Amino acid sequence: MNAQAQQDALRSIPPGLPTYDDVVAAAGRIEGVAHRTPVLTSRTADEQTGGTLFFKAENLQRAGAFKFRGAYNAIAQLSPEAKARGVVAFSSGNHAQAIAYAGQLQGVPTVIIMPQDAPAMKVAATKGYGGEVVLYDRYTEDREAIGRRLSEERGLTLIPPYDHEDVIAGQGTAAKELFEEVGSLDMLFVCTGGGGLLAGSALAARALSPECRIYGVEPEAGNDAQQSFRSGTIVKIPVPTTIADGAQTTYIGSKTFPIMRALVDDILTVSDAQLIDTMRFFIERMKIVVEPTGCLSAAAALNNLVTCEGKRVGIIISGGNVDPRALAGFLAV
Ligand SMILES: *Cc1c(COP(=O)(O)O)cnc(C)c1O
Repeated sequence: MNAQAQQDALRSIPPGLPTYDDVVAAAGRIEGVAHRTPVLTSRTADEQTGGTLFFKAENLQRAGAFKFRGAYNAIAQLSPEAKARGVVAFSSGNHAQAIAYAGQLQGVPTVIIMPQDAPAMKVAATKGYGGEVVLYDRYTEDREAIGRRLSEERGLTLIPPYDHEDVIAGQGTAAKELFEEVGSLDMLFVCTGGGGLLAGSALAARALSPECRIYGVEPEAGNDAQQSFRSGTIVKIPVPTTIADGAQTTYIGSKTFPIMRALVDDILTVSDAQLIDTMRFFIERMKIVVEPTGCLSAAAALNNLVTCEGKRVGIIISGGNVDPRALAGFLAV
């Protein structure tokens, strides 16, 4: 986007949604608590794509994913009374762990609603951080209804995984750190489920590197964000079958969507096979463990879905929570 288009786009975001100022405020709240994760580079990746790639390694964030940023930022802003009563969250895993951990660090009790088929490691980690876990059936029960019921019964504050102003602002701090460290970029690839990371990253990108092209990347089997982005209305899909369990969302958020529509350039999709190749690349070449969902952004760049040749490219690696046995299974095929 050029400067004028950027100004127009920012003006088109409805009032009440987070702005870059909220990302800056979130960065102040998480400072010294969240890790300032490293930015990694790889000559192999650069040779393969012809670009200069910068990988923001949120797989090395506390609790193993960027979600800690939004969770901590949201809990930090609750009133003392709300903190004492506690919070409830529903999540396929990383948001749950992040809420439980951020709650523990701030002395706030947490109740986490997780699908029965969530990876065992994620359930165990959530309990390990002191979260009370309530399991539900992802295919027959409505987690939002369970969340609402618990919040009414026990006075808990519901913190959703992506469709929340403070969550979006918190997630934007990862991209903010990336731009502060490497300067302006030509392109930024962001893993996309419900769009919290993408919306927050877009706010940071438009402020710190206005001409940067911003791409959300989601699993091919669950391309609701792409359909929504391209059609202009939120499209709901059935629960997609993909190894990217952190992006099995069935529709994009009502708060993330207007920000995406205004600031993002396009939504791309990658296959599970491309995610597995990317996991292998990260282990073999960069010596890091990245979960399937965390590979979405890199898979788009490494497969040149948009050509990276001659470009400075940012890639947000979103998380690293993968069960070692599941990982071994992926790599064996
Ligand atoms: C939650 C999550 C995503 C998707 O984030 P949204 O804000 O829902 O788009 C991507 N990767 C990982 C590892 C996640 O935990």
